[in-house]
Parts: sequence; C-alpha cells; structure tokens
Amino acid sequence: MTNQKVLPFALDQLKLASEKLDLDKGIYKILKEPKRAILVSVTIENDSENIGVFQGIRVQHWDVKGPFKGGIRFHPNVTLDEVTALSMWMTWKCAIANLPYGGAKGGICCNPKKMSTKELERLTRRYTSLIFDYLGPHRDIPAPDLYTNEQTMAWMMDTYSQLKGYSVPESVTGKPIEIGGSEGRKCATANSVAFCTREAAKIVRLKLKNATIAIQGFGSVGYNAASVMHNMGCKIVAISDSSGGVFCSDGINPERLYSHKIKTGSVLNFDTCVNITNTELLASNCDILVPAAMENQITGKNADDVNAKIVAEGANGPTTPKADRILFEKGVYLIPDILANSGGVTVSYFEWVQNLTRTHWTLDEVNNKLENKIVETFYEVERLSKKEKSDMRTSALMLGVGRVAHAINTRGLWP
Ligand code: NAD
Repeated sequence: MTNQKVLPFALDQLKLASEKLDLDKGIYKILKEPKRAILVSVTIENDSENIGVFQGIRVQHWDVKGPFKGGIRFHPNVTLDEVTALSMWMTWKCAIANLPYGGAKGGICCNPKKMSTKELERLTRRYTSLIFDYLGPHRDIPAPDLYTNEQTMAWMMDTYSQLKGYSVPESVTGKPIEIGGSEGRKCATANSVAFCTREAAKIVRLKLKNATIAIQGFGSVGYNAASVMHNMGCKIVAISDSSGGVFCSDGINPERLYSHKIKTGSVLNFDTCVNITNTELLASNCDILVPAAMENQITGKNADDVNAKIVAEGANGPTTPKADRILFEKGVYLIPDILANSGGVTVSYFEWVQNLTRTHWTLDEVNNKLENKIVETFYEVERLSKKEKSDMRTSALMLGVGRVAHAINTRGLWP
C-alpha cells in the first residue's frame, strides 16, 4: 500500500480546492509544480569499508510567504513522487497556520534500520553538504520526519555550521535543546493532534473521558499522541508499528508498551493484548482513529471498514481522496493532516524565532502559544467547512491554497 504514488492525490486535492476557490488558471499552473527539485547521489563508505550509494532528494515547492520549511525522511520507499507531494502539503500547512514559510520536503532512499549510527551520521552529513547551497535560515530550514530525529538534526546543523565557518542553530529545527532546540518540540505534533481531537469531540458530542483510541504508528508522533491522549483520560485500545499491532479493550498503558518495544523491538506480544495486523487496526472498534505512520493507509478499499467517529491524521497523506469521500458520506469527522499535525511545524517556527532572537522560551510559553494557534486555526477551518458544506480537508485546502495564491498575486511575477 505504501509504494503507491501519492503525488496524483496531492494534485487532485489542489484541483478540487482551486475549483472551489475559482482560482486563476495561471496561479493553478504555478502551484502544480515545485519551484525546485534537487536530486543528489549520496555516497558514503559503510562500516565494512564498501561504498554505499543512495538517492537523496530535496523538493522546494513554493516560497512566496517565506523560506522553505519541511522535514527529512530516511526510508526505502522515498521517491521523487512522494517527496514532491509532501512538499506541496507543507506549503498549504504553513499557510493554514499563518507561518511565514513555504513548503519543502526531503528524503534519502535507504533502510535506516539496517545502518549503524556511524553510517547514518556519514549519510546525513554527506546529504547536507550536497544540498548546502540551497539551505539556510532564510532559504530552507529542514526538520525531522519519518526515521529521522533530533540527532539527525544535530548532525545537519553541525555540517551546515562547519561549512559556513560559524554556528548557525537557526539552520534546522527539531534539534536537541542543548544546541538550540525548543522546549515542547518533541510532543508538538502529538499535542496538535490531541487539541484538534478534543475540539472535534465537542462538535460530534463525544466524551473524551474513556473514549477509545486506535493509533497506527508508535514513533515520534504515535507514541507521544498515545501518551498525551492517555493523560487526557482517553483509553488507548490499539497501537501498531511496522511489525503489526496489539489490541486490548481494557486499555493499553503507552509508557509500559514503549518499554516493551525498547526491550523486544516491536509492540507485538504485549501483556494481555491480542496481536492484530495493521489492516485490522484501522478497522478496530474505537471512537477515535489516529493514523501516525505512512501515506495511503485508508483507501477506497478499506475506508468503509473504519468504525471510528473521528479520524485525526497525525501522519501526512494517510487517506486517499476516494477514502475521503467514503468517510465523509459515512459521517466520520476527519481532521486533515495539514491541520491536525501542524503542531510540529508550528513549534519548529517557535524554535527558529527563538534561535534568531537568541532567546529561550519556557515549556508553558511554548505550549500555550501552540494551543492558542491550533485551536484558532481549527475553528477557522471548521467555520469554512460549515459555510461551504464541505469536509474539513477541502476547507483546510481552500484556506491554505487561497492564502498562497493571494500572496503570489500580491507579489506578482518577476521579471
Ligand atoms: P517515526 O519514524 O518516529 O515513527 C514512525 C512509526 O511508524 C514507527 O513506529 C514505525 O514502526 C511505524 N511504521 C512504519 N511503517 C509502518 C507501516 N507500514 N504500518 C504501521 N506502522 C508503520 O516517524 P514520525 O516522525 O512519528 O512520523 C510519522 C508520520 O507523521 C509521518 O507521516 C510524518 O510525515 C508525519 N509527521 C511527523 C511530524 C514530526 O514532527 N515528526 C510532524 C508532522 C507529520
């Protein structure tokens, strides 16, 4: 499922939003293409002293509202198609949140699970040096994504700084706190998923206390979402990772499951839970479903099996346009990725502002600013969806695409 192309879906979404907005044909043509796509051959010596060659990609979609911003992923399925779609979604996400950024995404096609820490470091540094000319705090600012983390960002920041000749903490976000990272960044994406879910629950009249939740993915977004929502009083009944999932109607303690995963390498065979497949997880009996792994998980084939009342997209692109229509007709309240997971890029923006101004905000400051922004944006999208009688994805896209189009019109084309 994950190998399926996603760019056609991103383009379908852009077309739909453009038609709804009655967008100028020329602007639509501009937004369909990324401004720049960089392909590099990342060559490293591996631990056995052989040469490894990996394809590295950075796609910069559009930067009319500010420097490019977007994560870097390390995964065997990374393709130009995927990274281009993800860069486009970043453009809309930043515009919806009113952040002064354009959208970008990057990745290296590799299997990080089969590489040592030293190999990953060499890979990250070589990739950074190859795209160095296109990076910078006022040009393009990377962040972590699938199978990359704050250590990856520390290597990127160090490589960029070494090549410049001085420290540039504002060149990447999602860094460790001791080198300029922000308080609250680790939980930021999960927090925005939780804030949006809380507001959606009010709308669909679902009590959060003991509401049942299934989460696909148990990494940075999935684990933290489980933890935050468990602390909000919800009952986590199913969780999965790339090996499969576990289900327990009495509830799963995320911290204990995390220790189990560290010990055994997967979430499987935990406590009194039953093992389930990722397909079964999506169809679990639950009130809230949080896809927090990969694209293309809820499709035309399995959308009808979704039992949840709310789907909160922690992952980028987990639901195809066909599945969107099925879920909308079933009355499922879907909180789209470009809104639900926008907490990550929002706190990345806070980190960048702190770095540029050489300040450090407290955790309370960061979390309060994040909550205010997410709740305000949620209701902006919600009001538009009521007005347009559309699903939340369409209204979020209309808001994002509309803002970017307006900015292009205002700036005009040069020369
Ligand atoms: P991660 O590498 O920390 O975790 C990924 C998790 O997904 C792991 O538990 C892995 O086992 C699981 N997984 C991988 N393939 C799977 C499959 N086929 N089925 C089920 N589970 C699978 O990555 P992350 O940072 O948590 O990112 C997850 C998703 O959230 C991605 O779509 C990413 O683009 C999106 N996202 C992340 C952030 C962020 O701040 N990290 C922000 C916005 C969106």
